[in-house]
Amino acid sequence: MDAKCSATNKNGSPCSAGPVRDDGFCYWHAPGLADQRRTDRQRGGAARSNVARARKQIAGAVLSPADIQGLLGATLRGVLAGRIEPGVGTSVAGIARVLIAVREATEVEERLTALEAAADPHGRRHG
Ligand SMILES: [Zn+2]
Repeated sequence: MDAKCSATNKNGSPCSAGPVRDDGFCYWHAPGLADQRRTDRQRGGAARSNVARARKQIAGAVLSPADIQGLLGATLRGVLAGRIEPGVGTSVAGIARVLIAVREATEVEERLTALEAAADPHGRRHG
Protein backbone atom coordinates (compact mmCIF):
# COMPACT_ATOMS: atom_id res chain seq x y z
CA MET A 1 0.00 0.00 0.00
CA ASP A 2 1.52 3.30 -1.11
CA ALA A 3 -1.09 5.57 0.44
CA LYS A 4 -0.39 7.15 3.83
CA CYS A 5 -2.73 8.20 6.60
CA SER A 6 -3.72 11.88 6.20
CA ALA A 7 -3.42 12.71 9.92
CA THR A 8 -0.34 14.05 11.74
CA ASN A 9 1.28 12.55 14.81
CA LYS A 10 1.44 14.35 18.17
CA ASN A 11 4.94 15.63 17.31
CA GLY A 12 3.64 17.21 14.11
CA SER A 13 5.17 14.70 11.69
CA PRO A 14 2.88 13.15 9.09
CA CYS A 15 1.49 9.77 10.11
CA SER A 16 3.25 7.04 8.15
CA ALA A 17 0.69 4.31 8.77
CA GLY A 18 -1.40 2.99 5.92
CA PRO A 19 -5.06 3.95 5.80
CA VAL A 20 -7.41 1.15 6.71
CA ARG A 21 -10.57 2.74 5.37
CA ASP A 22 -11.82 4.96 2.57
CA ASP A 23 -11.64 8.11 4.73
CA GLY A 24 -7.83 8.05 4.37
CA PHE A 25 -7.02 7.57 8.05
CA CYS A 26 -5.06 4.74 9.64
CA TYR A 27 -6.37 2.54 12.44
CA TRP A 28 -5.01 4.96 15.04
CA HIS A 29 -6.40 8.14 13.51
CA ALA A 30 -9.71 7.10 11.94
CA PRO A 31 -12.43 9.00 13.85
CA GLY A 32 -14.90 6.21 13.13
CA LEU A 33 -12.68 3.65 14.87
CA ALA A 34 -12.53 5.38 18.28
CA ASP A 35 -14.89 2.86 19.86
CA GLN A 36 -13.01 -0.01 18.24
CA ARG A 37 -9.69 1.32 19.59
CA ARG A 38 -11.12 1.64 23.09
CA THR A 39 -12.42 -1.95 23.01
CA ASP A 40 -9.14 -3.25 21.61
CA ARG A 41 -7.19 -1.37 24.29
CA GLN A 42 -9.31 -2.81 27.09
CA ARG A 43 -9.05 -6.29 25.62
CA GLY A 44 -5.28 -5.89 25.24
CA GLY A 45 -4.94 -4.66 28.82
CA ALA A 46 -6.98 -7.58 30.15
CA ALA A 47 -4.92 -10.03 28.12
CA ARG A 48 -1.68 -8.50 29.38
CA SER A 49 -2.74 -8.64 33.03
CA ASN A 50 -3.88 -12.26 32.57
CA VAL A 51 -0.48 -13.13 31.17
CA ALA A 52 1.26 -11.29 34.02
CA ARG A 53 -0.88 -13.12 36.59
CA ALA A 54 -0.23 -16.51 35.00
CA ARG A 55 3.50 -15.77 34.84
CA LYS A 56 3.59 -14.90 38.54
CA GLN A 57 1.82 -18.12 39.48
CA ILE A 58 4.03 -20.26 37.25
CA ALA A 59 7.22 -18.63 38.53
CA GLY A 60 6.46 -19.88 42.03
CA ALA A 61 5.51 -23.34 40.79
CA VAL A 62 8.39 -24.26 38.49
CA LEU A 63 9.47 -27.80 39.22
CA SER A 64 12.89 -29.11 38.38
CA PRO A 65 13.23 -32.70 37.15
CA ALA A 66 14.43 -33.56 40.68
CA ASP A 67 11.31 -31.92 42.15
CA ILE A 68 9.10 -33.94 39.80
CA GLN A 69 10.96 -37.13 40.63
CA GLY A 70 10.59 -36.48 44.35
CA LEU A 71 6.92 -35.70 43.96
CA LEU A 72 6.32 -38.87 41.95
CA GLY A 73 8.22 -40.95 44.51
CA ALA A 74 6.24 -39.47 47.39
CA THR A 75 2.99 -39.99 45.48
CA LEU A 76 3.85 -43.61 44.68
CA ARG A 77 4.65 -44.30 48.33
CA GLY A 78 1.42 -42.58 49.34
CA VAL A 79 -0.63 -44.68 46.94
CA LEU A 80 1.05 -47.91 48.08
CA ALA A 81 0.49 -47.00 51.72
CA GLY A 82 -3.15 -46.19 51.03
CA ARG A 83 -2.73 -42.53 52.05
CA ILE A 84 -3.34 -41.26 48.51
CA GLU A 85 -6.21 -42.27 46.23
CA PRO A 86 -4.94 -44.22 43.20
CA GLY A 87 -6.83 -41.75 40.99
CA VAL A 88 -4.81 -38.88 42.47
CA GLY A 89 -1.65 -40.85 41.79
CA THR A 90 -2.71 -41.32 38.17
CA SER A 91 -3.37 -37.58 37.85
CA VAL A 92 0.00 -36.69 39.34
CA ALA A 93 1.72 -39.10 36.95
CA GLY A 94 -0.15 -37.61 33.99
CA ILE A 95 0.68 -34.04 34.98
CA ALA A 96 4.32 -34.99 35.54
CA ARG A 97 4.42 -36.45 32.02
CA VAL A 98 3.10 -33.19 30.59
CA LEU A 99 5.56 -31.13 32.66
CA ILE A 100 8.44 -33.19 31.31
CA ALA A 101 7.15 -32.88 27.73
CA VAL A 102 6.84 -29.09 28.11
CA ARG A 103 10.32 -28.90 29.62
CA GLU A 104 11.74 -30.86 26.71
CA ALA A 105 9.94 -28.68 24.17
CA THR A 106 11.19 -25.53 25.94
CA GLU A 107 14.76 -26.80 25.91
CA VAL A 108 14.56 -27.56 22.20
CA GLU A 109 13.14 -24.09 21.58
CA GLU A 110 15.88 -22.42 23.63
CA ARG A 111 18.58 -24.40 21.87
CA LEU A 112 17.09 -23.50 18.50
CA THR A 113 16.96 -19.80 19.43
CA ALA A 114 20.60 -19.93 20.54
CA LEU A 115 21.59 -21.65 17.29
CA GLU A 116 19.70 -19.08 15.23
CA ALA A 117 21.36 -16.23 17.12
CA ALA A 118 24.77 -17.81 16.57
CA ALA A 119 24.11 -18.33 12.85
CA ASP A 120 22.81 -14.78 12.41
CA PRO A 121 24.46 -12.39 14.89
CA HIS A 122 22.50 -9.42 13.55
CA GLY A 123 19.24 -11.03 14.58
CA ARG A 124 17.64 -10.74 11.18
CA ARG A 125 14.68 -12.96 10.55
CA HIS A 126 14.68 -14.83 7.29
CA GLY A 127 11.64 -16.00 5.37
ZN1 LIG B 1 -2.59 7.78 11.14
